[in-house]
Amino acid sequence: MKEFKAESKRLMELMINSIYTNKEIFLREIISNASDAIDKLHYRSLTDKKIKIDKDDFAITIKIDKDKRTLTISDNGIGMTKEELETNLGTIAKSGSLDFKEQNKKKENIDIIGQFGVGFYSAFMVADKVEVVSKAFGSDEAYIWSSSGIEGYTIKSTTKENYGTDIILTIKDDEEDNRYLDEEEIKTLIKKYSDYITYPIKMEVTSDKEKKLETINSLVPLWRRNKNEITEEEYNTFYSDKFFDYEKPLAYIHTKAEGTMEYNSLIYIPSHASFDYYTKEYEKGLQLYSNGVLIMEKCADLLPDYFSFVKGVVDSSDLSLNISREILQQNRVLKTIASNIEKHIKNELLNMQSEKREDYIKFWNEFGLQIKAGIYNSYGIDKEKLQDLLLFYSSKQDKLVTLKEYIENNKDEKIIYYACGTSTDQIKTLPQVEALISKDKDLLLCTNYLDEFVFKIMNKYEDKEFKNVCSDNVEVDTEEEKEELKKLNDNSKDLLELMKKELDVKEVKFTSRLKNHPVCLSTSGEISVEMEKVMNAMPNSEGINASKILEINYQHPICKKLQDLYKKDKDELKKYTKILYAQARLIEGLPIDNPTEITNLVCDILVK
Ligand code: ADP
Repeated sequence: MKEFKAESKRLMELMINSIYTNKEIFLREIISNASDAIDKLHYRSLTDKKIKIDKDDFAITIKIDKDKRTLTISDNGIGMTKEELETNLGTIAKSGSLDFKEQNKKKENIDIIGQFGVGFYSAFMVADKVEVVSKAFGSDEAYIWSSSGIEGYTIKSTTKENYGTDIILTIKDDEEDNRYLDEEEIKTLIKKYSDYITYPIKMEVTSDKEKKLETINSLVPLWRRNKNEITEEEYNTFYSDKFFDYEKPLAYIHTKAEGTMEYNSLIYIPSHASFDYYTKEYEKGLQLYSNGVLIMEKCADLLPDYFSFVKGVVDSSDLSLNISREILQQNRVLKTIASNIEKHIKNELLNMQSEKREDYIKFWNEFGLQIKAGIYNSYGIDKEKLQDLLLFYSSKQDKLVTLKEYIENNKDEKIIYYACGTSTDQIKTLPQVEALISKDKDLLLCTNYLDEFVFKIMNKYEDKEFKNVCSDNVEVDTEEEKEELKKLNDNSKDLLELMKKELDVKEVKFTSRLKNHPVCLSTSGEISVEMEKVMNAMPNSEGINASKILEINYQHPICKKLQDLYKKDKDELKKYTKILYAQARLIEGLPIDNPTEITNLVCDILVK
């Protein structure tokens, strides 16, 4: 007897002890494996002229033997060699599922199978013995793999008439599992979970004491059926079965194109990012079928990167089975389908945005970053396509709004104001922001590191420019106020120059845009403080330095104090300058280079 690999063992333990309440899905898992195995052989027979198999012979057959307590699922697919039995059934490929389970042990209802599809091993939820009899296509030898649980498995030579695989489950002898030996129950389960399987699922049924085979599934894949005959539940079940998602999708788009180009597509927008979505391992793509035969599991060319979260199938009779990946990329049919699909997705999202805002916000929280990255990574080329999908937090509306809504809400404004920070609450406390909000301005409060880069790349939305209110170019003063401030700055030139010398800044100046706060930090030029932070956090950054301006509130008592010190005590003025600059940096969330010096300076003043 051979031992299972450690991870398989742990997974089996989970299965045998049935952590999962929805045990009945084992049948779906096994039927889906059988269908995959037939797909493989079907595909081979279509691409290799030497292989002659009648398509109509393909079938999955299910038999129940109540006396022996066995449920047998057979297929005439590609089968497995001895080595394949060993590697495919002795270990599990999806080791990630176990780590995940470990981390989430405490979460009660974690749906491990729903999320990862543990497949074959789920048989151990209902069976105390599992046998796999298999003969690989083209081989003369057959083998039987057998296991009664964690102890291990054996592989022995056996005989089998036809190529393909029989999975023989000896159903556990208890009340609860008896249903898996009941014809009607199994029929219901096939209908429920496997109706879309494209090969006939035949079941041996007894009528008038005679046994005969009856096809249970309706065979036509869901995407080929008429929209008006399909219920929402069917769409959702298909989705969760096919894409192993335990949550309902946010939306689905079912299209049938006829005429110059024929294809069916069924596209889903998931309601959450899959566990590996934001990892390197994630592969985007849609399942590609040619006339009902799967030719590619993930056809990446069907989806742009910014819609990489989309799941679905495309089935076209205009694609040849033999098409290679390279040729596929150049394929005109595929390109047209891809461009249509992209439009459908965008329209569906816009529709959701206006009709079901709550759903859209859910979508946005999961995948918004992808849309922003789409604008940024294309250097703005995809801006027109994507800009209306963007959402930002409006300070005035106190909720997420589109750019269009921002403009409609602020008709008289020529500028789209924004400010960046770590949270909306934190941004609202920034002196420049607070002052503008008190003047009834509407600001987009940006908490994502990409936001500002996106605005810079977009430059404008419609004809309105984006402006960071923390940079130095936002003017909201009246002419008189401007005049007064200019005079003050001109008259204080020497004072400001002296202060500047103490600091690593481009300029020190008095400002009118700080309601009650003493100081703030602004920038001039292309790089803002937020961008400096983001860029410096990247590997290989070269010490990016935004061109900073220390602004001092001209209506704050500190203004007068500085002027006095300039006349009476220049050394003390230098100390004040350092403290004020440190304050401004702290407010912006920047570190201070010399914390000991600064705290000592503060203490000096405290004890005076
Ligand atoms: P998955 O199907 O998700 O890869 P499973 O644990 O369900 O994981 O199956 C493991 C592997 O065993 C499959 O990938 C396949 O190669 C092989 N396999 C399972 N059932 C069959 C079958 N009926 N015919 C041929 N190969 C099979």
